[in-house]
Amino acid sequence: MSDMTAVVDFNTATCEITIPYRFGFELEADDPSGYSCQGTALDPAQVNLGQIAKDYVDAVNAAMNDQFAIRLGDCDHGCAGQNIPIKISASHDDLDPDRVISVVTRSGRGDASTLCLGSADPGFPVHEAGHQLLGRGDEYPERDADTLADVPRWGRRERVRNDYNVMGSHHRFGRFAAFHERDFRHVLTFMRAAMPDCEAELRSVGDVVLDYRIFAGIGGGYLSGAGGYAGTAGFDIGFPLSRDREWSVLLGAQADFLSQIMPAQRQFVLTGMRLGFERRFLGTEVTGRVFGGGRIGVLHELESSTRPSFGTPGTTFGPHTAAFGEAQLGGGIMRNLGSGGGLTADLNIRAGSELSDRHDPAYWVNFGVMLGGQF
Ligand SMILES: [Zn+2]
Repeated sequence: MSDMTAVVDFNTATCEITIPYRFGFELEADDPSGYSCQGTALDPAQVNLGQIAKDYVDAVNAAMNDQFAIRLGDCDHGCAGQNIPIKISASHDDLDPDRVISVVTRSGRGDASTLCLGSADPGFPVHEAGHQLLGRGDEYPERDADTLADVPRWGRRERVRNDYNVMGSHHRFGRFAAFHERDFRHVLTFMRAAMPDCEAELRSVGDVVLDYRIFAGIGGGYLSGAGGYAGTAGFDIGFPLSRDREWSVLLGAQADFLSQIMPAQRQFVLTGMRLGFERRFLGTEVTGRVFGGGRIGVLHELESSTRPSFGTPGTTFGPHTAAFGEAQLGGGIMRNLGSGGGLTADLNIRAGSELSDRHDPAYWVNFGVMLGGQF
């Protein structure tokens, strides 16, 4: 799909792998290619090229360093048995650049050689650095008709990935956009070729980016032998288990109000912590997900009673407080809204019980629908 070059340097004395890159920057009133930056002109007197160059290089180094390391094993090389960091060494060098970035004082759609000043965003240099430093191709769907007419192969759908890679739609993935193993695979290939006696492994060492979800919903089912309904609200923190965020551990808190419809209208307030696993099925517009887990917490029964009738005395329930446990299963969709966030809708089923030695511990089975958001 593309023909690019990537440089990898392994220093066996310091046990460091470096990907060097020298950027030159040149200010232009108009895009020299006559293609990228065709929008509104800015006043060039307002432009500080030195600062723009520094911000660009800093953004590349900050986003790409400390993401992956190589580990060598099964050999007696001095660098074996430790994480060998893959360092990104982007620098500003107008005298001997690997590439000159045309800094155009117009808005528009930039590329790996063109920065349209009116339309730059913090994710832009990071995405372009995937082309420049790693030799990677784009993974987002190309929608511009003129571009597709010029380069028909960019319309091929097999390029498109939705797994939060920087080379995909970094606007859509927002702060969750990350480089993946495949972006650094050439470093592994290089190390295997350079150190044929060693086993080499690529390891992710980047920070885990958490996500946050809120939800609320209603449900119905059974509650201690009678029909019941529920109102629910809560939040989760998602701990992704991989860079593609396909699997996550969810840790959160959830509160409910459960009530019988009849006969006594027994009522419970539940608060507890929930823990579960989520599997996502990543899509461009809509992401599917299923989850399963459990909750433990404290249940409080409010006081309620049945009326006496036909000679039967009334019964009073509660108030009482006890621990409870609950199993949960669910699935749903997230409508992707950009910046990695979205609106969620889920169906779930849960079954729980009071954990006490009372003679009639409360229990419930509940089917619910939850709406929420993720950010
Ligand atoms: Zn690109």
